Amino acid sequence: METSRVQALLASPPLGSPVQIRGWVRTRRDSKAGFSFLEVNDGSCMGNLQVIAETSLPNYADEISKLLPGCSVEIAGKLVESVGGGQKVELRAETVSVLGWADASYPLQKKRHSLEFLRSLAHLRPRTNTLGAVMRVRSSLAQAVHAYFRDNGFFYIHTPIVTSSDAEGAGQMFQVTTLDLGTPPRKPDGTIDYEQDFFGRRTSLTVSGQLEAEIYAMSLGKVYTFGPTFRAENSNTTRHLAEFWMIEPEVAFNDLQANAALAEDFLKKVLGSVLESNADDLKFLDERVQPGLIASLRNVIEEPFERMTYTEAVKHLKASGESFELPVDWGVPLQTEHERYLTEKMLKKPVILTDYPKDIAAFYMRLNDDGKTVRAMDVLVPQIGEIIGGSQREERYEVLKKRLEDLKMSLDDYWWYLELRKYGTAQHSGFGLGFERLVLFATGIGNIRDAIPFPRFPKHAEF
Ligand code: ATP
Ligand code: MN
Repeated sequence: METSRVQALLASPPLGSPVQIRGWVRTRRDSKAGFSFLEVNDGSCMGNLQVIAETSLPNYADEISKLLPGCSVEIAGKLVESVGGGQKVELRAETVSVLGWADASYPLQKKRHSLEFLRSLAHLRPRTNTLGAVMRVRSSLAQAVHAYFRDNGFFYIHTPIVTSSDAEGAGQMFQVTTLDLGTPPRKPDGTIDYEQDFFGRRTSLTVSGQLEAEIYAMSLGKVYTFGPTFRAENSNTTRHLAEFWMIEPEVAFNDLQANAALAEDFLKKVLGSVLESNADDLKFLDERVQPGLIASLRNVIEEPFERMTYTEAVKHLKASGESFELPVDWGVPLQTEHERYLTEKMLKKPVILTDYPKDIAAFYMRLNDDGKTVRAMDVLVPQIGEIIGGSQREERYEVLKKRLEDLKMSLDDYWWYLELRKYGTAQHSGFGLGFERLVLFATGIGNIRDAIPFPRFPKHAEF
């Protein structure tokens, strides 16, 4: 018989027909009335399927009565309306085959485990309700991202993971090398001779696909990347990972306003999409993980995002009377506490801050006529703060060249980036959205380490 997924059986139960499922036992309860209840989950959805296994089944005494949480089973029988409350349908078992046993040492017994404890069990944690829900939402979000761009005429570009450029000029990078770390080849002056390294030069894992995406924006018009990025920053926060996935659209001819409009429309559409596709998962997360989650997602989808310049934001923060841990001052980056004040307390909705001071901005951001600020934007959302960072790019050859020189960056390293400004340059814009920040926001899970199957952060790369 074909195996059905529990999700499909619960969504439109073929009452009375024979069905077969495969999954993992969550619990077994023995009734005095001559049968046991098994709660079986196959990962397809939040819900378990309740199975009634009568003591008259041939392997009841030897096997069924010994099933424990974690066992994998294949069960065939008839789907019937449930007499008990709590579920609409149940499976009357005709055969119960044990596929794999689990004993009492199975760590996921029926009690609440902390997310921190579950992190040490990355091989088992997706079998819990919470992590199962988060990972299903994550999967739907990823698909919604691709669907959004496809529906809006974007091309998906795979930018390299091994790179010899540092997109931000700031990010700490993981080096990629095949040199012998004990005795690396050295030049006469004692420094390491990277010409003998695999690529004949120093290379690292990428921190962003933006610079390469710009190449394709300036040829295919509307493109995006969605791939892994790496940052070797030692930030032990609930919002930073060393390996994360970044979504980076880049659009030729867009100015900063169009870029902000794209970011807003994009967030609304992908979040709206998972509200529909993963209603049960989100309901569970709303009830058990972050009360108010669904209301806050609806708020983001329905309310127009606020727009404000960095300079205005600093004024509001200074006038707020709040005592922040780090002071606010024009020219200094905003901290998460400042960002959260603006979006959570002051505006109670997402806000797009624009026109940041040039001295705290990346080299590629377009200089404003005031000479002090650049056409940068950050999208801030409640609970998280910055979820998106983007900008209109500097498209003027001379201005970009001067900026690189002022920052003492090597023109040679950026020769091709400069040439994009030499041959058919045009205004263009884009942004970067950390996919795990989006998952964090959509699920309310609280810690970014639970928004990715296998988190990498300082001193952690098990699994
Ligand atoms: P933050 O100030 O929050 O550290 P950033 O300004 O350094 O972020 P950008 O370089 O602007 O980040 O990267 C674009 C987006 O990538 C951010 O808005 C965020 O969504 C995401 N992001 C950046 N760093 C990380 C990280 N270490 N882990 C997960 N997501 C990240
Ligand atoms: Mn940023």
